[in-house]
Amino acid sequence: MPHQAPTTSAEGEQGTFAIASDGGGDPAIRLRGLRKEFGQVHAVDGVDLDIPPGEFFSMLGPSGSGKTTVLRMIAGFELPTAGTIELHGRDVSRLAPFDRDVNTVFQDYALFPHMTVQQNVEYGLRVKRVPRAERRQRAKEALDTVRLGEFGERKPDQLSGGQRQRVALARALVNRPKVLLLDEPLGALDLKLRHTMQTELKQIQRDVGITFIFVTHDQDEALTMSDRIAVFNAGRIEQVGSPVEVYERPASAFVAGFVGTSNLLSGGGAENIIGKPGVFSIRPEKIRVDADLSKPADVGETSATGTVTDTVYAGATVRYEVTLDAGGQLSVVRQNTAEPADFEGGRVRLSWRHEHSFRVPEAG
Ligand code: ADP
Ligand code: MG
Repeated sequence: MPHQAPTTSAEGEQGTFAIASDGGGDPAIRLRGLRKEFGQVHAVDGVDLDIPPGEFFSMLGPSGSGKTTVLRMIAGFELPTAGTIELHGRDVSRLAPFDRDVNTVFQDYALFPHMTVQQNVEYGLRVKRVPRAERRQRAKEALDTVRLGEFGERKPDQLSGGQRQRVALARALVNRPKVLLLDEPLGALDLKLRHTMQTELKQIQRDVGITFIFVTHDQDEALTMSDRIAVFNAGRIEQVGSPVEVYERPASAFVAGFVGTSNLLSGGGAENIIGKPGVFSIRPEKIRVDADLSKPADVGETSATGTVTDTVYAGATVRYEVTLDAGGQLSVVRQNTAEPADFEGGRVRLSWRHEHSFRVPEAG
């Protein structure tokens, strides 16, 4: 067989980074001291961020934490109260949206109902007076990229929700932006379709190699799709890191609670069990639960006794809420590998490796 086009994600990613970094090493996006006030509301309260070319970057945070406002400032729909925005080394802070090499995909991606899919995707190019033949060709390529090459003649109402979302994506990709901004683009889809689209979107991003900035309030979505995540809280970024860093080593109690289940030991409970004052985070799935209290903890493990106050059966996993004798409460998640054990009301010993309980700063 002759050499095949590379299809593995590893090769795709390397290629992307190699090409993208030819631009002289400037990040795709650089934000410095970015602020936005709406009257008394500090919607964005001092954001500094560098996003390298080709990254799938997520902004994760609760509703109202300023994610959309940051995205709208990058797109040029809002002007910053203070601070700067650079795209590939060029200060665009004061430029109009159409002078910035970015495109946005929104959750309510209104397609023109009377136009075909092909016409919808071509529309932006027509406005820019791109010649007809080139328009056709580029729209066809964009539709192929989102795997809708055969659907060009359909009308939007002849498509499923996921297909319509992909048309919206094609409509943005057809402009060949350097950066694509996506504001909760999967929010309107049901859970199953959402999961399918998460995988597809990630694959499309690898294929095209464009920097994606993806806004979501869904921690699972951010963890599964992103190269890196910024966790937002009240207009500020609390932590930037890979999914593993953010989940395994949350930089604050807020991040520990928002990304994953908040499972904190503090006060007397922490002093008694860990032997140090402070606030400590332990992920529920790192904790072992055992009904045999006489069994000593293994070397390298911390352990604590307590009483199971609640059992939540969730199919693949079972969660136990445990009130600790030393003070405090912990959740424990167990894979449902055998019959779920019924510890409810019973006495248990919890144990975890020392390194799985770690100190988090107390104020975000
Ligand atoms: P998120 O996308 O994280 O949910 P937003 O960026 O939409 O958050 O909003 C951040 C804060 O700014 C919220 O308190 C919101 O009510 C406020 N806000 C956003 N846009 C406006 C606006 N146009 N006028 C007044 N307040 C706004
Ligand atoms: Mg928003």
